[in-house]
This record gives sequence, C-alpha cells and structure tokens, in this order.
Amino acid sequence: MHRGISVRFWGVRGSIPSPGTDYLKYGGNTACVELRVADKILIIDAGSGLKPLGNHLLAEMPLEAHLLISHYHWDHIQGLPFHAPLYVKGNRYHLYGEARGRRSLRQILAGQMRYPYFPVALDVFQAQLRFHTIRAGDTISLGPVQVDTASLNHPQDATAYRVNYAGKSVVYCSDNEHTAQMLPETAALIQGTDLLIYDATYTDEEYQGKTGAGAKKGWGHSTWSEAIRVAKRLKVKRLVIFHHDTMHTDRVTDRLVKRARRDFRHLEAAREGATLTV
Ligand SMILES: [Zn+2]
Ligand SMILES: [Zn+2]
Repeated sequence: MHRGISVRFWGVRGSIPSPGTDYLKYGGNTACVELRVADKILIIDAGSGLKPLGNHLLAEMPLEAHLLISHYHWDHIQGLPFHAPLYVKGNRYHLYGEARGRRSLRQILAGQMRYPYFPVALDVFQAQLRFHTIRAGDTISLGPVQVDTASLNHPQDATAYRVNYAGKSVVYCSDNEHTAQMLPETAALIQGTDLLIYDATYTDEEYQGKTGAGAKKGWGHSTWSEAIRVAKRLKVKRLVIFHHDTMHTDRVTDRLVKRARRDFRHLEAAREGATLTV
C-alpha cells in the first residue's frame, strides 16, 4: 500500500459539463476528486465526474466510501443520481456536508431528485447511506485519516477540506473568491500543505471584465494568479489549479499553465484521469 495520499481527478470543470473536441485533454466533467488514503476511499464533490468514477468503482464492490461535499451548486452534486454503486445493495456510503438553514444534508441532496426534476427519488438507492451533517471547522476522524474543514468565501457558502495522513496533506479549496484578506480559517487550513487544489476559474482579465461577457467580481471564484499568491504566502508545496471555466478550451488552459509556471514552478492544471501522489 502507498504510504501517502493518492489523488485522481474525475471532474475538473466548473459550472456545467463541457463536452466536445475542445476539451479532450483536460476534460469536461464537473467537480469530482477521488482520494485513496490508508485503506479508505474518499471522494470530494459529486459533479458529473462522479458518474465515470462510479463505473470504475463497480469492480471493487462491495465498497465503503466517504463522500465529502463542498456545497450544493449543480456542478458539485449533479453526478450523484448517476453514480452506479449507489444502486447496489451491500455498498456503504458516508456523506458529509453542511446544512442550509433548516435543511439537513439528506434533505438537500434529496431535493435534486424530487418530482419533477428527476424520475426517481433518493430512496431508490440500495446502498446503505449515512448522512453526516457537519459544520465548517469540524474535524472528521476516519481511523488514521483526519479531515479538517473550513469555510470559503462563496455565494451561499462552501466548505474546504484538508485530508491529513501520516504527515502528508491535501487541501481541496474550490469555489472561493479572493478578497483583500482571505478568511483566517481558510488560510490556516491551507498553510503548508503538500498539495493544494484551488479554484482558478478565471484569468485576471476575465475577472476584471477586460475580456469575456462582463466582470466576474462577486461570482464566488478566483484566478490563477491569486492561486499562486495564496500558494506562495501559505508555503504550499504543489499547486493544482481547478474548476476550469467552460470558456477555457485545452488551448487556453495550455497557454495559461505555461504562463503561470513562470511565477510558480510546481503548478499544474487539474486534468481528468490524472493521478497525483503525495
Ligand atoms: Zn462550482
Ligand atoms: Zn459554487
């Protein structure tokens, strides 16, 4: 068994799946990242990438998995009803996410499968589901693996996760807009991590409205240059830019990575199918 943490990307895109020949290299599925750590399967976010991950996991049944959800915008939950192992008895899933007002995690996830949005309701799943409603700041203990959480700056909120194991760590920090001062709890979560997966939806020009369809300030997302500032300031060892804008074709992302590496050498763009280990 690998002693560290292995990270595989199944969905790297923000907002809406983007199929087509312009997206073959980095992929078009929305947010979904698989982590293998100790003997555990952790999944962060349930975007459309959760579907191909589900097909892959069919070979490992019966399985136990921990699904951590950052927030409930479509691009982070839309894969859930299409995740095949959920329909198979004998599998066990632990789901984690914050409440919204008086709605529990279960009620929120059931909401996207309610009439008339989806043909079957959440109780169609045959796998055993355990819902863990968390609050940002909680720590989730999974044997030797510890998962810390923190709030992000995003419309209707979002949660960042830091997975710690045997002195190594990976931070998932998607859907976060930068401000003059990062939330102290977010900064503390990122500090010194081995691998930071960070929301870099826009270029500076797009964010400011110099190109594209108007400024994106207040939309809840960040830029690659801000991701680099965060990585340098918080002594991150390796940076993965994530939640690519749907306007960023492979050509745009290639160009952007080349430019960004001049400022931070240990940077790459999240790519569907890629596995990184720390
Ligand atoms: Zn998103
Ligand atoms: Zn969002």
